Amino acid sequence: VRLKGTEDIFGPQALCFDRIETSARAVFKIFGFEELRTPYLESKKLFTHALGTGTDVVQKEMYEFLDKSGEVVALRPEGTAGIVRAYLENNFHKTQPFCRFFYLGPMFRRERPQKGRLRQFHQIGAEILGGESPYSDAEAIHCLTALLDHLGISGYTVKLNMLGTMDERQAFKKTLLDYFKPQAAALCEDCQSRLEKNVYRVFDCKKEFCRAIVSRAPFLVPDAPLLPRELSARSHEHFDLVRKALEKNGISYRIEPTMVRGLDYYTRTVFEITHPRLGAQDALGAGGRYDKLVESLGGPATGAVGFAIGVERLLLCLEAPEDADKSFVNFFTIATIGEAAFHEGFRLLSELRTAGLAVAMDFQGKSMKSQMRLADKMRSRYAIILGDTELTRKIFVLKNMETGTQEELPLTEAVSELKKRTL
Ligand code: AMP
Repeated sequence: VRLKGTEDIFGPQALCFDRIETSARAVFKIFGFEELRTPYLESKKLFTHALGTGTDVVQKEMYEFLDKSGEVVALRPEGTAGIVRAYLENNFHKTQPFCRFFYLGPMFRRERPQKGRLRQFHQIGAEILGGESPYSDAEAIHCLTALLDHLGISGYTVKLNMLGTMDERQAFKKTLLDYFKPQAAALCEDCQSRLEKNVYRVFDCKKEFCRAIVSRAPFLVPDAPLLPRELSARSHEHFDLVRKALEKNGISYRIEPTMVRGLDYYTRTVFEITHPRLGAQDALGAGGRYDKLVESLGGPATGAVGFAIGVERLLLCLEAPEDADKSFVNFFTIATIGEAAFHEGFRLLSELRTAGLAVAMDFQGKSMKSQMRLADKMRSRYAIILGDTELTRKIFVLKNMETGTQEELPLTEAVSELKKRTL
């Protein structure tokens, strides 16, 4: 049996995956991103280092095992760490310091499965490495919304926040602890331990009494990022420029001061896109700036920003999911009666395929009726019927499977006649 939180993807879902990936590739091309495929398996150290040892992903959710070599390896829980490793390992930081990569593929997290939450899920993501411009932050968000627009997904909300630089984030911890610690007893147990491990995580708690304490915090100012009074002028300026660039791109957004994101590497701009169709797991995609990550993995100081979207969640938001019944597995199916016709059919099969036409044929000598049933099952638009009479007349019968109409066409013209009928 299938492992909990994993899926077999076929039928309409497979068609939707294909549509989403095709859309993503088209949008990334327009935005100037190149594909970078990193391994699914990496050293565990890469993730503990990049994501932070205290994060849920590293502490509870990573699939990791001891390799026979003695090294602990892990299935990638996200894409950014691998991209940064590849950026450094392939010397992009020296040869092409400003890089824009995209990736798509499976990620693995041992979470509690529910709607929109799996243990093997798929992400589409992009990273802009080598710059600190706020315009790059806006560009990442623009690329994400462009993909949603390309897929015809509407009704989403862009949420934006500014966390400050890594140094500012460290300093803010004190302000956050000064507020939460005296009320620790009123927080849930999880949040109490978050005060020790990573106070920022308190903002993610879904419990009402914790949220009430958060909502009363004096450092939450309407229409402003987290801790606006303590944020440096430089961070304010960065944030303002991101906002202006978004406005210039016609992207509406909401400032969400309590949106802090789950991974430790984020600095300054963070964003999330939510969709009402998603229910409890309402984040469709998310990302942010991570200006210290390249350095912390052994590279030079390199500004970077990126995002990731969940494909399974995109699927839940598609307005018109693919209809498998209306898409063709085969455009043509060849049905034959008798041995001579079978051989001519088999020759035709190869000729049509070489010409790029999608064709299938039954090799089991079934009756005409069951061959027609097969044509139907394989969702063919047309059946090519060949029998002795047709062979002697050097023609074939073309049956439109939708309307049932039939016509006779010369065998020598098969390729050109059938090409006219493909969509
Ligand atoms: P994250 O890497 O946690 O920022 O997640 C980015 C996006 O990936 C989310 O907004 C989701 O769409 C998707 N995602 C994250 N975790 C899961 C999961 N366990 N199952 C399905 N999708 C996920």
